Amino acid sequence: MTKKICTQCGYYGFEITYTKGSLVIEIILWVLGVFTFGIFLLIAIPYSIWRLCSKSKICPKCRGGAMIPVDTPAGRELMAKFN
Ligand SMILES: [Zn+2]
Repeated sequence: MTKKICTQCGYYGFEITYTKGSLVIEIILWVLGVFTFGIFLLIAIPYSIWRLCSKSKICPKCRGGAMIPVDTPAGRELMAKFN
């Protein structure tokens, strides 16, 4: 993994993987699914799929920016701008 720069705040470092929703809710839904013989699995399965699909790489500092590699023209421009 290489260090990247944030397009919004200029943070230089490693991006983090962010997943929408809550792991706790996901576990509860799956447990309820087992105890209700599958009724809650109708909610748990789409919820898990939605969480998997919503995974994205974000900046750990501002949590909103997209991180780009610094060895690109746009990345170099950002490095010059923020430093
Ligand atoms: Zn940022």
